[in-house]
Amino acid sequence: MKAIGVNEFGGPETLHLLDLDRPQPGPGEVLVKVDYAGVNYIDVYMRSGIYKRSTTYETPLPMVLGMEGAGTVETWGPEVEGFRPGDAVAWCLARGAYAEYAVVPAWRLVRIPAGVPPSVATALMLQGMTAHYLSHSAFPLEAGQTCLIHAAAGGVGQLLVQLAKLRGARVIATVGTREKAELAGQRGADHCILYREEDFLPVVRRLTDGEGVDVVYDSVGRETIARSIRSLRRRGTCIMYGTSSGFVDCIAPLELAEAGSVFFTRPHLADYTADADEIAWRAGMLFEVAAGSRLVVTIDREFPLAEARGAHETIEGRRTQGKLLLRTGA
Ligand code: NDP
Repeated sequence: MKAIGVNEFGGPETLHLLDLDRPQPGPGEVLVKVDYAGVNYIDVYMRSGIYKRSTTYETPLPMVLGMEGAGTVETWGPEVEGFRPGDAVAWCLARGAYAEYAVVPAWRLVRIPAGVPPSVATALMLQGMTAHYLSHSAFPLEAGQTCLIHAAAGGVGQLLVQLAKLRGARVIATVGTREKAELAGQRGADHCILYREEDFLPVVRRLTDGEGVDVVYDSVGRETIARSIRSLRRRGTCIMYGTSSGFVDCIAPLELAEAGSVFFTRPHLADYTADADEIAWRAGMLFEVAAGSRLVVTIDREFPLAEARGAHETIEGRRTQGKLLLRTGA
């Protein structure tokens, strides 16, 4: 089968098209014929070696990349029940999706309901479930609360804006370009700040009458985190869930006190999709709102599998406005 792998950590040029044997499912595993693999920032972290210290997301070299996909069940190993060949399924957080076939632990698979296209189901796995746990679990937003969402026109960003609005929150968004501001506004953001043109901190203070926001969802990291913490209201919560602009290795505890005794967390999706029930709950809710047109899933671009390098250059180049997909079929 064709697959995209890396032999060494590095830039997008380390991605190579490989010819590999089809993987064999072991106990508790299902072999899926992949239709779409999602391209996510986590793939960039894994490819570049940023996660080489992570035990949650292991990156043994050589490896096939890809932490999200959708396709159809081909066959399965021992101790697996309840699947039939051809069942439409999707998953995230099992590595190896950038391939024509992937082996996935059965407990990580969800069935795609009729009415949800496989491309949309793919986007709802890693980015959708991230937006869901951020808005429903890490900081369960309530009506009337105000949140600050960085990179609001991105894959996770657009979904998070919409879920925050569905929960009745007010959304202050930051984006890199005017085009992205328009998109974030269409998804429901109440205010958009062009954070490459103006400092978002005084604007957030002004928009909240000096109080600050209840929660910041920060995926940008190095360039924003200090000011994100200062954007909070007293005893607010800063969730740094990504570091698209660069790794953050230190937050001084006293800084949290000085910002108003605020809370800080750096979560992994893996800890919020800890078992089959939790995955079924999050995915089920996302499929329902997407099928009912209350959640718009933007597929930005599809690349053929062999063009994974271009997809990585696009996401790292800040050129995405929604989901990037690799199409593995013909
Ligand atoms: P995005 O589509 O959001 O792409 C990244 C965006 O980040 C860019 O478009 C850009 O938006 C913004 N950005 C700001 N500074 C930079 C920079 N220096 N270089 C590149 N991009 C920058 O990607 P995803 O939706 O796939 O992921 C968003 C974030 O969420 C990532 O940081 C990822 O790691 C994180 N994540 C975390 C998870 C978790 O559980 N902890 C799970 C899933 C994702 P703009 O131009 O508007 O600034």
